Amino acid sequence: MTDIQLIIDLHRLSERQGPGSPADTLRALTFMDLPTDRPLKVADIGCGTGGQTMVLARQIHGHLTAVDLFPEFLEELDNRSRAAGWQDRISTLRCSMDDLPFPEQSFDILWSEGAIYNMGFEHGVRAWKDFLKTGGYLAVSEATWITPDRPKEIERFWMNEYPEIDMAAARIRILEDHGFSLTGYFQLDPASWIDHYYQPLEAGFASFLERQGHSEAARRVVDEYQAEIDLYQKYQDYYSYGFYIARKCR
Ligand code: SAH
Repeated sequence: MTDIQLIIDLHRLSERQGPGSPADTLRALTFMDLPTDRPLKVADIGCGTGGQTMVLARQIHGHLTAVDLFPEFLEELDNRSRAAGWQDRISTLRCSMDDLPFPEQSFDILWSEGAIYNMGFEHGVRAWKDFLKTGGYLAVSEATWITPDRPKEIERFWMNEYPEIDMAAARIRILEDHGFSLTGYFQLDPASWIDHYYQPLEAGFASFLERQGHSEAARRVVDEYQAEIDLYQKYQDYYSYGFYIARKCR
């Protein structure tokens, strides 16, 4: 098994593949003034197994296209949406986020929780903007520094993981430079990291190792996630995910 296959196996049975909670998804929605006279079209990019997709489907009258690179995650989302009787309202699409097949101006909302880092924030905003109708909304959560200075250990970790991490003001500037107007911003609180992501992930370590016959590669994957969790416990005052909600003006 490759490392990617191991990571998919570790995450496949979780509700979330990154920090975030139903309350965060609902809060982000409150910053949108949405039309109520017609069904909306929404894309959820980097949806994973669809934790936030299911919350959106409950709230929004319209159709959701949930996109991810990995069919194993989309299969879980298909199972969930079938179980809820929403198979006509949620379509899944296996596609890379940097090669989306959508026509221009096709969506009222582009949603992406904890996934745009795969392209980089600015690249993602630039590439996705065309798919959004003028007046439509972008809602993105993304790793964000809380303080201008921070300890070397956590700086080094993020420079290695995702050097594009920045403070909120820099992200908002990028949105404004690309024709968006910010309508809302908030930071995810520790419960969204711990209760909704890290705890369920840790609870799955033992069964994952069992499935993988305690292979060296599987143990390495668990050790890396454990180190990431330990760093979060130690340095959570210095970074979080910021949730950015912005309206496309031009
Ligand atoms: N939105 C979910 C998943 C976040 S994890 C949640 O918050 O729980 C990031 C997701 O991006 C994963 O599901 C991963 O499979 C997906 N991903 C990674 N690279 C991608 C790419 N190039 N195109 C589309 N999705 C990608």
